[in-house]
Amino acid sequence: MTIQQHSMNNVPTDLYIDGHFTEASGGARFDVVNPATEELLATVASAEIPDADAALDAAEKAMVKWAAKTPRERSEVLRKAWELIDSRLEEFAQLITLENGKGRADAIGEVRYAAEFFRWFAEEAVRADGLVTHAPASGARIIVQHKPAGLAVLVTPWNYPAAMGTRKIAPALAAGCAVIIKPAAETPLTMLALMPLLEEAGVPPGLVNVLPTNHPAEVVDHMLHDPRVRVVSFTGSTAVGRKLLKAAADQVLTPAMELGGNAPVIVFEDADMDTAIEGVMLAKMRNLGEACTAANRVYVHKNVAEAFTKRITERMSALKIGNGIDPDVDVGALVNLSTLEKVEGFVHDAVEKGAKVECGGRRLEGKGFFFPPTVLSNVSEDADCVHDEIFGPVVAIQTFEDQEDVIRRANDTEYGLVAYVFSSDMRRAMHVCERLDYGMVGLNRGLVSDPAAPFGGSKQSGLGREGGHEGMLEFMETQYISATW
Ligand code: NAD
Repeated sequence: MTIQQHSMNNVPTDLYIDGHFTEASGGARFDVVNPATEELLATVASAEIPDADAALDAAEKAMVKWAAKTPRERSEVLRKAWELIDSRLEEFAQLITLENGKGRADAIGEVRYAAEFFRWFAEEAVRADGLVTHAPASGARIIVQHKPAGLAVLVTPWNYPAAMGTRKIAPALAAGCAVIIKPAAETPLTMLALMPLLEEAGVPPGLVNVLPTNHPAEVVDHMLHDPRVRVVSFTGSTAVGRKLLKAAADQVLTPAMELGGNAPVIVFEDADMDTAIEGVMLAKMRNLGEACTAANRVYVHKNVAEAFTKRITERMSALKIGNGIDPDVDVGALVNLSTLEKVEGFVHDAVEKGAKVECGGRRLEGKGFFFPPTVLSNVSEDADCVHDEIFGPVVAIQTFEDQEDVIRRANDTEYGLVAYVFSSDMRRAMHVCERLDYGMVGLNRGLVSDPAAPFGGSKQSGLGREGGHEGMLEFMETQYISATW
């Protein structure tokens, strides 16, 4: 793949099945648009049910040999994949910017993060532990071991076109599974472009198959009802996650669900203000707010709220917005018009309910889906953005006085992905972290994502964990042998 002059030369646009790029069986294609220019970027093959069947056949065949390889052999392939992706950061970052709209720094950050899952799971592949012990009563041996769970269907969103896929592919391959991945229709190109690198790294044909499609419900549902499939791993909205959980119930598939978030940030009076400003900027503006981990509600102690609002407004206003392909741009385009309209709707609603616009607040005129960095103060508890994911560059500030009250407000949501706490009093900070009903907490940090840590949410933010030691277990079946000899 080369992207010269930001052109799409050599970027694959067909389905990837059994190690080959191939037209869809019905010949259908769909458009992928550059969100910064609204120009057509590519037309991509749209998979149908016969293509899903071909991918399942290929995956079934490939998995037999792959699962029989030693963990070390699998590990070497994964490590090579990390090296290859890491050596081509710029190319992949450009492609992500072209199809997703995010700026260069965000795109480079994503490619590094995406590649790192291959390195981490190369290291985990050789550490799948087990257990041999004596049964206390019978004296039989209890032997516990982990085996590859079976074929995995992976469904990913548009906000991280590379990383949401590699966070699933790498642990699945480490565990010995074969996969079929359905990337989001907005951003299928990056995942397709990764396939030649995986081939070069030694991933055999059929082990990883990519099925873009613009009718995901039928294609995914068909695969989830194929008896060869054993795992469904999904990242996306809670609404779609619920549908896939229902479909997974028919064959009792292992579900891994990384769903929506509504992250609260709590800035205590005793917080180091520089740390809090840096942390909130990162938690809000990484990926221009289009992240499940994005700071959605910012609760600031009333004694420091004015100073905090002034400083965060200065920082947000100083960001440069524009086509992310320009290296000087900090904030790129949102992925599509509906995301832009949703973000704008949240701002209008908050203002109607009494919020003050400190900066930003209106979409940019002209081509592209641009919404400027925006700060809202005095956001009321009944504003929609307090209850739903904003998924855009809007800091929504509320104030609090009482610790118990802010914990209650932070927990008052069906989501439970991530929360952020800023305080210099470690005793208080740890107490608050432990009271938060969230799968992850950032303490004096605006970034929790790390391939070496178990990423995931509680409540309606998901089931299971990705990354860390736990990530590979999602693709493994525990087998217990009761033995005497
Ligand atoms: P989405 O749920 O609309 O789509 C996600 C994927 O599911 C896409 O590939 C889409 O084509 C597919 N899909 C849609 N309907 C389907 C159906 N009926 N059957 C099968 N597949 C279907 O989400 P999105 O808009 O692409 O992404 C944004 C959402 O993802 C946000 O809610 C965000 O919080 C969430 N997200 C969560 C995490 C996490 O790790 N928890 C990470 C990134 C994004």
